[in-house]
Amino acid sequence: MSQVYDRVALIGLGLIASSMFWAIKRAGLAGEVTGYSRSAKTRDTARQIGLCDRVCDSAIEAVKDADLVVLCVPVGAMEAVAQEISGALNPGATVTDVGSVKRHVIQSVAPYIPEGVHFVPAHPLAGTEHSGPESGFAELYDNRWCLLVPAEGSDRGAVKKLRSLWEGMGANVEEMDADHHDLVLSVTSHAPHLIAYTMVGVADDLSRVTDSEVIKYSAAGFRDFTRIAASDPTMWRDVFLTNKDATLEILGRFTEELFALQRAIRTGDGEQLFDYFTRTRAIRRGIIEAGQDTDAPDFGRGKASQ
Ligand code: NAP
Repeated sequence: MSQVYDRVALIGLGLIASSMFWAIKRAGLAGEVTGYSRSAKTRDTARQIGLCDRVCDSAIEAVKDADLVVLCVPVGAMEAVAQEISGALNPGATVTDVGSVKRHVIQSVAPYIPEGVHFVPAHPLAGTEHSGPESGFAELYDNRWCLLVPAEGSDRGAVKKLRSLWEGMGANVEEMDADHHDLVLSVTSHAPHLIAYTMVGVADDLSRVTDSEVIKYSAAGFRDFTRIAASDPTMWRDVFLTNKDATLEILGRFTEELFALQRAIRTGDGEQLFDYFTRTRAIRRGIIEAGQDTDAPDFGRGKASQ
């Protein structure tokens, strides 16, 4: 793979940005990668571990002369960052983001994109429960999806270049509109996270057992929930606050199904339970066949993706 951009600026240096940096370096996709994070601690760590060719002390310095700027901060922080860098963006540059919610990010960032700068929102469907500058690794995006969410009338050249970058980082790329993205993700990621948070919270409330038995005897089901429920609190707070409608719609459906299964248990309707679990098992097989997970019985102990 050859160089796609001369200079890429990563704003925010957590899991997603650091993985992008290592993946960009692995394939030689950019001439120089600059980086900025709001805390001196994160910037120092980045310098120590060689994350970014140049770590800058301001976002404005990082985006100067960049032909691609990637916003890698929590969804709720995108607007302030976009406002801050707006006046320093290079004419002809592309701004993209990696936020887990798209409609809200578009609404909050687009007003700060100057004339002559392209805006191509994106969302890599890859992650782990770890965060921070030291959590990234070059393989995170390998064979994962990255969804591009260009607005109607977006510059096709800018979209094509961003696609090349993500493909160069190992991802499969598809385009989707923002509302559809937010609905799909509420089913595949947002609602499941809320359910995991809830289940772990319920176990924690039963503190009599949590202190000992829940942790000691945590079988695969609960242990997998705890991995998901260990995800970054800021990121997930922002996801639920900004993808409200789709998530509430899915949670409403979830609650109805849960009541139906609860009733089946109460009335002893084994046939309904068996049929339901047979249907859901097929979905797991489909995910494995699509190469989005392995059937290795490691109970989520490997570098699992969300
Ligand atoms: P992360 O590891 O927690 O890193 C977050 C970064 O954003 C840090 O550099 C942090 O700066 C900065 N930041 C936090 N709050 C900020 C604020 N209020 N203003 C400015 N900067 C702020 O997060 P991540 O997992 O890389 O997630 C980044 C983005 O990717 C989010 O929008 C998330 O929705 C999206 N995403 C995440 C995943 C996932 O599974 N993790 C997957 C796909 C997409 P300091 O360290 O200096 O405080």
